[in-house]
Amino acid sequence: MTPVFHPVLVNSPFADPCVYVDFLFDRRAMLFDLGTLSDLPTRKILRISHIFVSHTHIDHFIGFDHLVRLCLGRQKQIHLFGPAGFVDQVWHRLASYTWNLVYSYDTDFTVVATEIHPDGSGLSSEFHCLRGFKPENVTVRRFTDGIIHLEEGLLVRAAQLDHKIPSLAFSLEEKLHVNILKNRLEEAGLVVGPWLNGLKQAIQQEKPDDTPIQAAGTRGAVVLTLRELREQIVKIETGQKVCYVTDAAFTPKNAERIVDLAREADYLFIEATFLDDDSDRAATRHHLTASQAGKLARRAAVARVIPFHFSPRYTGRGNEISAELQQAWNGFSP
Ligand SMILES: [Zn+2]
Repeated sequence: MTPVFHPVLVNSPFADPCVYVDFLFDRRAMLFDLGTLSDLPTRKILRISHIFVSHTHIDHFIGFDHLVRLCLGRQKQIHLFGPAGFVDQVWHRLASYTWNLVYSYDTDFTVVATEIHPDGSGLSSEFHCLRGFKPENVTVRRFTDGIIHLEEGLLVRAAQLDHKIPSLAFSLEEKLHVNILKNRLEEAGLVVGPWLNGLKQAIQQEKPDDTPIQAAGTRGAVVLTLRELREQIVKIETGQKVCYVTDAAFTPKNAERIVDLAREADYLFIEATFLDDDSDRAATRHHLTASQAGKLARRAAVARVIPFHFSPRYTGRGNEISAELQQAWNGFSP
């Protein structure tokens, strides 16, 4: 299938955590964690629509100022998600600057912050540039099945992990993957065009079989039913899944939640902060070792594992961390 999500680590695995997920055919992106963004080109930062922050230790949230500075003066809305207390923390970051000049701007950069509580409740607040980023439209939220963001074709789930403080893990899931079979399209006398997006949407929205779809044909527009098109030119597969796990102690409860969240993910980005020789230190710091991360990846039966958040104590030894994770993932751990 042609993947829709293209996730990459923004920084070296020894530097601040941050995963950028680019969307194919769509000028947008999402971020997991908000470490430093200085190596991310401006044009890529401006595509970001949603940011999911595990917790607010400084290395996971310091990119916020850089983001605000770039978006200021633009007509743009960014949604940020984080653990309990996050809405106040976003407000305090914004409130630490003086905004007396923004009231006359002709654009309204807006931050929408949402926090997710361990009991499944939550809180959202908007912060508008044109009103000096004061909190407004505060709403109480309730999340079911861990789903914190839902839109046509995709959803994002969060799991509460224990890092001595709450730390959120996330999973970005495409609902269905709709492939257009190009050869079949030609055989049917149809041509590619924006109408295919409408067809994909109709399939993802599970519209009735007799829904008329206006298609582009070699001899002009033709109207076909959703069923005809689905049977002739479409192949439907399980959607893609990208999972992000960081800053979690290796406890049975965390392990169970991580495995549940990451099950059969196409990509698992997972912290591998320490080597297993230093597992005592990892336990004291509430982090995973590479071997523990590999075992979790194995239990979750993921397709790819990308380790990150290496402790600087292993500078120059990144290969050892990756090798330890790989061994555990393959089932050869000590
Ligand atoms: Zn961390």
